[in-house]
Amino acid sequence: MTAFDDLLAHQRETVALAQVAGRLGWDQETMMPRGAAEQRGEEMAAMESVLHARRTDPRVGEWLAAAQPPDETGAAHLREIRRVWERATKVPARLAAEIARVTSVAQGQWAEARASEDSAAFLPVLARVVALRQEEADAIRGDRSRYDALLDDYEPGATAETIGAMFDALRPGLVALREKVLGATPPPGLTGRYDVEDQMALTREIAAVFGYDFTRGRIDRAVHPFSSGSGADVRITTRTSEAEPLGSIYSTIHEVGHATYEQNVDPAYALSALGQGVSMGVHESQSRIYENQLGRSRAFTSWLFGRMGEVFGDLGVADAEGFYAAVNRVEPGYIRTEADEVHYNLHVMLRFDLERALIAGDLAVEDLPGAWNERFHADFGVEVDRPSRGCLQDVHWSVGLFGYFPTYTLGNVYAGCLHEALRRDVPDLDAALARGDTSGARDWLREKVQRHGARYQPREVIAATCGAEPSEAPLLRYLEAKFGALYGV
Ligand code: ZN
Repeated sequence: MTAFDDLLAHQRETVALAQVAGRLGWDQETMMPRGAAEQRGEEMAAMESVLHARRTDPRVGEWLAAAQPPDETGAAHLREIRRVWERATKVPARLAAEIARVTSVAQGQWAEARASEDSAAFLPVLARVVALRQEEADAIRGDRSRYDALLDDYEPGATAETIGAMFDALRPGLVALREKVLGATPPPGLTGRYDVEDQMALTREIAAVFGYDFTRGRIDRAVHPFSSGSGADVRITTRTSEAEPLGSIYSTIHEVGHATYEQNVDPAYALSALGQGVSMGVHESQSRIYENQLGRSRAFTSWLFGRMGEVFGDLGVADAEGFYAAVNRVEPGYIRTEADEVHYNLHVMLRFDLERALIAGDLAVEDLPGAWNERFHADFGVEVDRPSRGCLQDVHWSVGLFGYFPTYTLGNVYAGCLHEALRRDVPDLDAALARGDTSGARDWLREKVQRHGARYQPREVIAATCGAEPSEAPLLRYLEAKFGALYGV
């Protein structure tokens, strides 16, 4: 065995154990009996310490120093293993354990504070989380800024500067479009009640329409929709509401985008450093293009209108065109996860600016609620009336996810680029989508993006697919054309 072979064999077991840990997390959100919570915490902590020991094993450093990659793919394995190893070995074990402990407490306190609309009850523990992540960033950053060091976990190679420039270029177009659309009359939404078992059945059917492989996955109910796992076991969750059937349908299409990315990675990369999506931004590009550019297209919604009519009867809209307008209704709101395509990225930009200031130390945690509310008023023109609609709405900061939010908008930008290239390469897409046939689009995405897993760097795979460096322009063109036509502006 060469050093390269030893390293990959060690990595394979580490990835397999990480998949087991992920499945414990899936179980916790779906099946676990309530009384098991405390024991599960200990089980997960035990798994985490095994994983940490494997990731920082001194032999990994020796193998990395000695390994000769047999080819370019071998070099990509080394790149990914080295990135994780260097980060893990720079963080003292005491700090890693303290971050795990405090974020677990903070998540509980956040949930309570949100339920009782009491941001002051959450701020002390959030200040502790911010301080720990600052300390961690200082340990790993080298000559990078703290924020860039954290961002790199979710989007390797990205910097606040390049993302900030992209957001600055995107914002004026979004604001102008929003102003025009909000000046027009909004279309009516769906009415009626929708049986939740029928919704689950339709959700499974639509997941299959978008290529989800049920022999290597399953759909269950959870409080929050998510996708979990890689390779031969990729599971998703959804939630249903009797009054609002579009939520379960579109969150399922979104999660199927994430899940099929994982299911479609080249099986040769299974249980290796290349065997999963390359970054959160590229991941979100897959979920977003499935959900929005395909799922909310006029062509696909005409098919969906027919299927929903067969399942539920009258939907309260006159025809397929009315359904298309209802699915794409633009409404200002407080909540990021409920935002339409025009507003969504403005919510992300607010968080990006505030979290950079928090991590840099330019914004004190105690000033966060005020800063949030002021910024929200400036961006959206309304006063935040309660913390659950303001700075307490997202779980991310409580669990220490700083640098994660911008990958949502990066994913939208990448989806815009991919969509233009897809339309160029697959010209008869709409005729197929109108029959409920997404195969042309998903075959193209599998071939160009998904099968590569983490073989190429994030920007590299988007640029190679689109034939140009990623830019915000295609997303803006798509949004202006779609919502300009829908609202006659
Ligand atoms: Zn997503």
